[in-house]
Formats: sequence, C-alpha cells, structure tokens
Amino acid sequence: MRQFQSELLSRLEHEADQLRIPIMKPDGIALLRQLIHIGKVKTVLEIGTAIGYSAIAMASMTDVTVVSIERDEIMYEKARNNCDMANLSDRIQLIFADALSMDIFALGSFDLLFIDAAKGQNLPLFQKFACLVSPGGIIVIDNLLFHGFVANPETIISRDRRQMIHKIQQFTEWILANANYDTHIYNLGDGIGVCYKK
Ligand code: SAH
Ligand code: MG
Repeated sequence: MRQFQSELLSRLEHEADQLRIPIMKPDGIALLRQLIHIGKVKTVLEIGTAIGYSAIAMASMTDVTVVSIERDEIMYEKARNNCDMANLSDRIQLIFADALSMDIFALGSFDLLFIDAAKGQNLPLFQKFACLVSPGGIIVIDNLLFHGFVANPETIISRDRRQMIHKIQQFTEWILANANYDTHIYNLGDGIGVCYKK
C-alpha cells in the first residue's frame, strides 16, 4: 500500500469514528487481506460500501479489483470521493443500489464476496449473491456476534434488536449446517464468518 493510501485510511478511521459509521476494525481488515493473499483473490464483490474504507483497503493490494454496492446516496458520494483521493477509481467500481432489489446478472463472477450490509439481511443477501462466487472461492460475512449480544440475547431490551439478533442466529445456524461450504466464525471484531465454497 502506498503511503498516501494508508494516510487516507487513517483519516477515514477517524471520520468513521466521529460519524459513528461501522467500518471494519483493523483485525477484520487484516483477515480480509490475508484471505486475499492466500486465496490469490483478484476480484471482490462487497455489499455495503459506507465511505469506501474496506474497499480501499482491499483494492490497494496488487491486482485486486473491487465492485462495491451501497444503497445510501450520501455514503455512495463520500465513497466516490474517497476512491478518487486514493487514486483507485479504476480498481473500485461503486454501484448505487439496494443489493436486495438490484439485478445481478450483469455483475460477472468473483473470487471473494464480502457481505457487510444490514445485519438482518445476511441470509437473503447470501442466498442471492453466493452464486456469483465460483467453487474454491470465499464468502466473508461481518457482524455475526454483534458485540456479544448474539450469545446473550436476554441482555437486549428493544424488540427490533431482539429480532435482528434472532436473524443473525438463524443465519449462523443455516450456514454452519450448509454442506456446500466449509465455514468458521472468527471471534474478531464483531464476529466474522469465513465460508469456503466447495
Ligand atoms: N464495508 C464498510 C462498512 C459498511 S457499513 C467498511 O468496512 O468500510 C454498512 C453499509 O451497508 C451502510 O453504509 C449501509 O447503508 C449499507 N447497506 C445496508 N444494507 C444494504 C443493502 N441492502 N444494499 C446496499 N447497501 C446496504
Ligand atoms: Mg460490519
């Protein structure tokens, strides 16, 4: 990674902190980058761009291109600016759309799919986009432990939150039981699932 790119990433970490935008933590980014190296990943599809932090962290690696989908227009515009500043606009393709309702057949195929969108949507997003990953590819899902609330749902007061935790649990059970994938959930950041597609 170039010096100006790592400086930009530090600025984005600060901005995300101020604006309470839930970007990946450094250990999650390190895992993604290791998977990209070891898996010889060239093409990434990301769902949930936010300000472009994780997209920039991945696309700044040699030979990696990223397609990233974001449904919030303000985030999408910020990400566009940041990708320009990182000098990576040619390696990051941003799509302004709701991933759940967009057409996918023009997207092509990917070595790695990274789902980091609305936490309650993991299952429908996985079911919609996993077909774009070839066998031998990797699917990474963020926020599976949700600050420990998934393990201890009784500590949650709000009904919406309880429902979301229930959805995360359902997704986790479904993917761990799915014989087409070899899955492990890492206790990093907010819990990161890594699925190897057999
Ligand atoms: N991957 C980013 C953080 C993403 S935060 C990083 O680590 O830098 C989650 C983002 O997903 C938010 O910006 C939210 O607007 C977006 N999002 C949530 N549901 C979505 C959907 N169905 N389609 C597209 N974007 C979605
Ligand atoms: Mg996340």
